[in-house]
Amino acid sequence: MATVIEGGCLCGMLRYRLGGPPTPGSVCHCADCRRASAAPMVAWVSIRREHFILLSGELKRIRHAGSVRSFAPCCGTPVLIEDTEDAEHIDVTACSIDQSDWYSPAAAIWVEDRPPWMADTGSLPEFPRAREPS
Ligand SMILES: [Zn+2]
Ligand SMILES: [Zn+2]
Repeated sequence: MATVIEGGCLCGMLRYRLGGPPTPGSVCHCADCRRASAAPMVAWVSIRREHFILLSGELKRIRHAGSVRSFAPCCGTPVLIEDTEDAEHIDVTACSIDQSDWYSPAAAIWVEDRPPWMADTGSLPEFPRAREPS
């Protein structure tokens, strides 16, 4: 893992640094993560609240179903989820981190919400990049 871990949004306006080591979290398939990201699952890392350092840009906070989700209003990238406003640990979207190769999720959660086709994506034909026109 890199000693300085930074991440940011798709367009680059929002940037952050993790001031302490993140703990690999879960890959969440819950309906709320899916809707908030428009993706079939979201990988999270856990970090102490004071270790999330916003370098540029701003976070838009949305309270929904008992948690607070934050995203980058410039381009819509999901960034954080907090169970409460003062929770000691908060979760950061693993895939908004610049180098997330070190990430190895600790668990898959809310699999009862997982779309049935997700269980079988390993058997799909694969292409190193975009699919060749056939
Ligand atoms: Zn952005
Ligand atoms: Zn979730």
